[in-house]
Amino acid sequence: MTVIHFIEEKRDGREHSAESIETFIRDISEGKIPDYQIAAWLMAVYLRGLSVSEVVALTRAIAESGEKPDLSSLPRPILDKHSTGGVGDATTPIVLPILGACGITVVKMAGRGLGFTGGTIDKLEAIPGFRTDLTAERLVSQAREIRIALAEQSEKLVPADKKLYALRDATGTVDSLPLIASSVMSKKLACGADGIVLDVKVGSGAFMKTEDRARELAKLMVEIGRGAGKTVRAILTTMNQPLAKAVGNALEVKDAILELKNGCRGRLGRVALTLAKEAIEIAKSLGGHPKVNDPSEVVSNGAAVEKLREWIKAQGGVSEVVDNPDNVLPRAPIRRECKASSSGFIIEFATAEIGEIARELGAGRFRKEDEINPAVGLEVRKELGDEVHSGDLLFVIHASSNESADKAAAKLLSAVKIGDQQAEEKLIVDII
Ligand code: URA
Repeated sequence: MTVIHFIEEKRDGREHSAESIETFIRDISEGKIPDYQIAAWLMAVYLRGLSVSEVVALTRAIAESGEKPDLSSLPRPILDKHSTGGVGDATTPIVLPILGACGITVVKMAGRGLGFTGGTIDKLEAIPGFRTDLTAERLVSQAREIRIALAEQSEKLVPADKKLYALRDATGTVDSLPLIASSVMSKKLACGADGIVLDVKVGSGAFMKTEDRARELAKLMVEIGRGAGKTVRAILTTMNQPLAKAVGNALEVKDAILELKNGCRGRLGRVALTLAKEAIEIAKSLGGHPKVNDPSEVVSNGAAVEKLREWIKAQGGVSEVVDNPDNVLPRAPIRRECKASSSGFIIEFATAEIGEIARELGAGRFRKEDEINPAVGLEVRKELGDEVHSGDLLFVIHASSNESADKAAAKLLSAVKIGDQQAEEKLIVDII
């Protein structure tokens, strides 16, 4: 079948065979298909969807598209975690050190920012020296040495995901259930972990805006993982406001460090602890012997913070960032305060819009070749349900110029609604 026929098949809503999907993905990895044909197929999938068997075939083909780390020398079980993406969603720099400190081995592959959401790789690279271009061999040797290792998808590791991921970002095809499921799960299958914990975001700052859609995505990913013999749990978590107290790469890293050092009491820390708790349960169900049952123990005794230092150093980063984030992380030259113009309670955040504002400040990309600015973004000083008085500080913008700060300030004020009724939030919606 030619590529044009393959695209037409999906454009007309017909089902692909597993073999034709495998050929298409193999040809993508070998650089045989031009971007415009891949983009046309992505849009056809976005509009027509994929059946469960097509998603399974796509996931497997992407997972097989490059080198796979050989985990045979690592202690089992090996765990992995992944989020479907959100705003201020910086759980990885907390969850991985917690699991490492619990004696659990984690090998993870992650991506860069997608749409209005930030990406784990961009965030961690805000730490000077932090390298994510690990080879499959280095990923494994680091996991052997310190238990945790993280790499970006690359020309060698799941190259088809790297290509599709970047093109989705540039073609308005990000928030597609089959494309998210296959992107996330291909990286998880390629990494070869035995157990996987998934953080499926739902709300105004997630790709899945309703609980029904998020459940559908979670069930599909769990089915793909279990079909491949993995133990998988998905946690549905609310994304109706930025999860961290900041949005932007260096700012989120700083918030994650502070959260871990201060006992994981904030919303970000509580989601991270829930993910870690599930990962511990999975590890036990697979015959592992984590040092603790309750991940907050390694947070309060400092072992997780020590593991974070060790991890940053192992990936080439300046580990002093843990002790002095303000001295080590890049800082934007302009700060602009954004204050409430009325009194009441915070009843709504336009969370995706806040992610977009951070992207416009330079924290994310509009085209795949754009350079990001790790220093820019915004601090979020209030949460849903908080009482505010006119003149209270809502956001602090970190910008590279006065002009971009002005633009962000004008938009930010309409991204938050103040009203009479105190809103409530259920942070952890369900565990599947
Ligand atoms: N994370 C991924 O790896 N892929 C997606 O499509 C969304 C979140």
